[in-house]
Amino acid sequence: MKSLDTLEFAGRFARLGDAFSAAVEPTAVEQAKMVICSADALALLDLPAETASDPRLLQLASGAWHWPEVTPRAMVYAGHQFGGYTPRLGDGRGLLLAEVLNNAGEYWDVHLKGAGLTPFSRSGDGRAVLRSSIREFLASEYLHTLGIATSRALCVTDSDTTVWREHRETAAMLIRLAPSHIRFGHFEYFYYNKQYAELEQLHEHVLKDLYPECLTAAEPLAALLQAVVKRTAHTIAQWQAYGFCHGVLNTDNMSILGLTFDFGPYAFLDDFQQAHICNHSDHHGRYAFNQQVSIGYWNLTAFAETLTRYVAIERLQEILDGYADIQQQAYLTAMRARLGLLGADAGDALLIDKLLVQMDHSAVDYTLFFRRLGEQPAAAALATMRSEFANQAAFAEWVDEFLLRCSTDTRSQAQRRTQMHAVNPLYMLRNYLIQLAIDEAEDGNYGLLHKLHQVLSDPFTEQPDCENYAQRPPQWGKHLPISCSS
Ligand code: AMP
Ligand code: MG
Ligand code: MG
Repeated sequence: MKSLDTLEFAGRFARLGDAFSAAVEPTAVEQAKMVICSADALALLDLPAETASDPRLLQLASGAWHWPEVTPRAMVYAGHQFGGYTPRLGDGRGLLLAEVLNNAGEYWDVHLKGAGLTPFSRSGDGRAVLRSSIREFLASEYLHTLGIATSRALCVTDSDTTVWREHRETAAMLIRLAPSHIRFGHFEYFYYNKQYAELEQLHEHVLKDLYPECLTAAEPLAALLQAVVKRTAHTIAQWQAYGFCHGVLNTDNMSILGLTFDFGPYAFLDDFQQAHICNHSDHHGRYAFNQQVSIGYWNLTAFAETLTRYVAIERLQEILDGYADIQQQAYLTAMRARLGLLGADAGDALLIDKLLVQMDHSAVDYTLFFRRLGEQPAAAALATMRSEFANQAAFAEWVDEFLLRCSTDTRSQAQRRTQMHAVNPLYMLRNYLIQLAIDEAEDGNYGLLHKLHQVLSDPFTEQPDCENYAQRPPQWGKHLPISCSS
């Protein structure tokens, strides 16, 4: 184990130079206090759980102190936002504090979100508010427990410093960890600015430090696209299987590592709703739940465009053409596991689609359906859920098909239940639970937030006295508006 004073630093991104980022000091907030800290995330930096109460961490996470041997940097990038190109975005309120090399040989960017103004703040105030910081913290740590690739959250602090959104709020900060913060938008920035020397420097860094396995390929940049396509397809497949709606899939929010990244107005589906739009500002549903797969392709195409000087267009297109199948296969694998289906059958995709159509028509709880399906033998479980489906005839037809598909399953129910429960969480990061935790946290009480984080850190295991965390949302908690202004 280490302490905050004995970490080892690398400077792989910083060494790229001033064309890539600007040196910026964080702007401290007043009366900072620790809101929540993830022991699992601390461990990634070889820091013991007690670091949560180290005054140094509070200083680091509130902009009052940073490691003297590392200069914090704001990254520059661009991006397609809602389909339109913005030539310069960048870290408007976040700083790369350091790149840490841990005992396992892993590199972790330590990024402070809400650290104050930077040259890329545009009209923003450089700050983050408590609600959005808590939302990012909970989502990153929960996605991780589900096994979905994501940036991680180390801790959240709050303060007495005032910021204005729709109303008066307090300035909070979040420490985010990721093996790299490079986005598709980094490539777009240099490509559209015709800064080809820097673009090539970026290629070199990404290949050498993030995708070394691509270096030995005949065409390393084609191999890079292939690898990014694969990771992105897998991550989005998991989102679809677990009902995660990102909300703002702009290319500046697309991680080059295929991580779930830059949480804004995200939502996990309560009732299954294919066309759910979680972002209040997304008037046309560009980033609706059922658009995410094709938006992933659109974004990968935008990334591939930046490689057109280096790889033949036909080759890039051929790689992009592989996306749909990689995504669909990963999705089917995840959904078969969720449904307890063994092996692979050519009819599975249709069987799954038919179920989802019925769920959508009937506002069935997406999380509890799978959990309850594993609880009892399939026929009995489906019989108990029948009344929840609006079109009884269509559901009965689906049940017959499903049971036929399961008829060769020779597992004991105990074995089937264990296997299904291991992939079907009982506890889910529901919007209304987040809202309750935020409401208390805004009044200075972090008890519910800590409890929610703890329950969700083991979502597959039933925990004593936690029935209320497994329930469907009350009416008020079903359609909470979540805006981009965070
Ligand atoms: P996001 O919607 O968080 O992905 O941010 C899009 C762009 O706006 C990024 O360049 C952010 O750094 C910037 N941005 C978002 N909020 C703020 C803020 N409060 N102050 C400065 N820049 C911001
Ligand atoms: Mg962003
Ligand atoms: Mg309040």
